[in-house]
Amino acid sequence: MRLANKVALITGAAGGIGRESALLFAQHGAKILAVDINAAGVEETAALVAKAGGEAVAATADVAQADDCQAMVARAEEAFGKLDVLFNNAGIMDSADADAVATTEDVWDRTIAINLKGVFLGCKYGIPALLRAGGGSIINTASFVALLGAATPQIAYTASKGGVLSMTRELAVVHARQNIRVNALCPGPLQTELLMKFLDTEEKKQRRLVHIPAGRFGLAKEMAQAALFLASDESAYVTGTEFTVDGGITAAYVTPQDPAP
Ligand code: NAD
Repeated sequence: MRLANKVALITGAAGGIGRESALLFAQHGAKILAVDINAAGVEETAALVAKAGGEAVAATADVAQADDCQAMVARAEEAFGKLDVLFNNAGIMDSADADAVATTEDVWDRTIAINLKGVFLGCKYGIPALLRAGGGSIINTASFVALLGAATPQIAYTASKGGVLSMTRELAVVHARQNIRVNALCPGPLQTELLMKFLDTEEKKQRRLVHIPAGRFGLAKEMAQAALFLASDESAYVTGTEFTVDGGITAAYVTPQDPAP
């Protein structure tokens, strides 16, 4: 029970990393406020947690909307009395996100609103709740593309994740003396719907796979395991990090002659 007596709010909890984290955190004793824009999906996550013997409440929210973020935090405190762990994990990768010339302003604005402003709003309303609980852990999902350029272009996504990473560092420094830790989770390429929809041809998949030393895409569950460590008191001295869980891709990245991922 690595999260006994903790309350965790997880965004993007209708699938992928968020759902696996809800299940794993609950298995380790946390009470879960599972949040997503996909109402049916997040209800299903809460039901799966309950079926496995855990406790979860589902809430629908668009993390790009301030009112929704304020309400999701209030819901966690109302349901469980406090908030200890804030996992800002919701994100999108728009299939029309491309290079700077081809990407429309709409795609740029939407991606930044959800992936970057969504994390800011989660913190804006979540930090006061963590302070009321005496401190806590914030995990912001960034990406390996915050650390490296990817040649399959996704300019808005990459910029949003770079912002998440630098925002995480500043939050960590500012709130360290308030007993709030803030870490970025930087997943490598995962076998979740988000990436598989984007790498929609075998050629695109292979182009990315060729640079992953592990030789395969990662699993959402493997990200949940890393998030569990960051959420728990085992990581009490870990803050401001770019916690990279990527099958080695950042260590192995391209020589100039290689095709980039
Ligand atoms: P996913 O698509 O399974 O999960 C993302 C969830 O976010 C979905 O349930 C979706 O409904 C939700 N969401 C989207 N917009 C939202 C909004 N406005 N408000 C609330 N919820 C919203 O994908 P995933 O791979 O589990 O992604 C989780 C996080 O991991 C994302 O931030 C993603 O950018 C990041 N990530 C993914 C990969 C990858 O390869 N899949 C790699 C690095 C980082």
